[in-house]
Amino acid sequence: MSLSAQDKTKTWRVIDLIHWAETYFREKKFSTPRSEIEWLLQSLLNCSRMDVYLRFEETLSKSQLSILRGWVKRRISHEPLQYITGSTEFYGRTFFVTPSVLIPRAETERLIDISLEKIPEIEKMNIIDIGTGSGCIAITVAMERPNTQVIGIDISKDALQIADKNKNYHTVKNVQFEQDDILLNKPIQEPAHLIICNPPYIRQEEMDSLMEDVKQFEPHEALTDNQDGLTFYRRLAEKSHEWILPGGWLILEVGLNDHPIKAMNLFKDQGFKNVELMKDYNGDDRILIVKIA
Ligand code: GLN
Repeated sequence: MSLSAQDKTKTWRVIDLIHWAETYFREKKFSTPRSEIEWLLQSLLNCSRMDVYLRFEETLSKSQLSILRGWVKRRISHEPLQYITGSTEFYGRTFFVTPSVLIPRAETERLIDISLEKIPEIEKMNIIDIGTGSGCIAITVAMERPNTQVIGIDISKDALQIADKNKNYHTVKNVQFEQDDILLNKPIQEPAHLIICNPPYIRQEEMDSLMEDVKQFEPHEALTDNQDGLTFYRRLAEKSHEWILPGGWLILEVGLNDHPIKAMNLFKDQGFKNVELMKDYNGDDRILIVKIA
């Protein structure tokens, strides 16, 4: 039985769909078939995972079925769930995403924790988020610390449209977005107190080994610098003295294996003394913190 070739008189309850889709996703070799359909149903019914089961006798309407049919088809081709449903959660808030922006990762929430530790509650600070993408970092910091002024920068106009949509959705005033290429230009007039950045850090040779979901659907320019994964770190190591005030901070996400050490050494080579790596919740080095002397 398939959802598209269904008997026209058959009614589909939530629970029937769960069973049907779980089998279908399993046949297609998805590793967690039941959670695939649970996510889609949560978004379709606009409810929690628990509610999906509380509503399992509910019958889906024709239009709901037709939306779901399209979503399942897209998911089978490995499009990420977040692009299919159009949103994701980051630091407890909803963010819209499209294939023009990287899907915010749980690991990046660590970048926020550490940034917030550096931002006093009262004093006014100017903060830059380089490669803002969906704006998840800039908006989260601006909302958690309303006394700051945050500028999110990205090279991609399409990404900035999403960032603006997220800004408006959260009605946040102390953040603005600007288009710029930081590899060519100085991103701001005045030096900032804090720069946060989750740059494209995957090496070109590593791109082939990524999951299909990532490789085929997420924006390449947000994932890789098409070189050694260090281009943005090199640029920031050269420019941080100029772009950040003395006593300020640079907080960067870093990749796996030897990437964190290589990134850290770029800053040490430029004479930065106060440079530290911190782990994410999986125990991997994930954040590079540089204090500007
Ligand atoms: N700042 C965004 C994020 O962390 C985008 C990062 C990127 O595009 N490399 O999700």
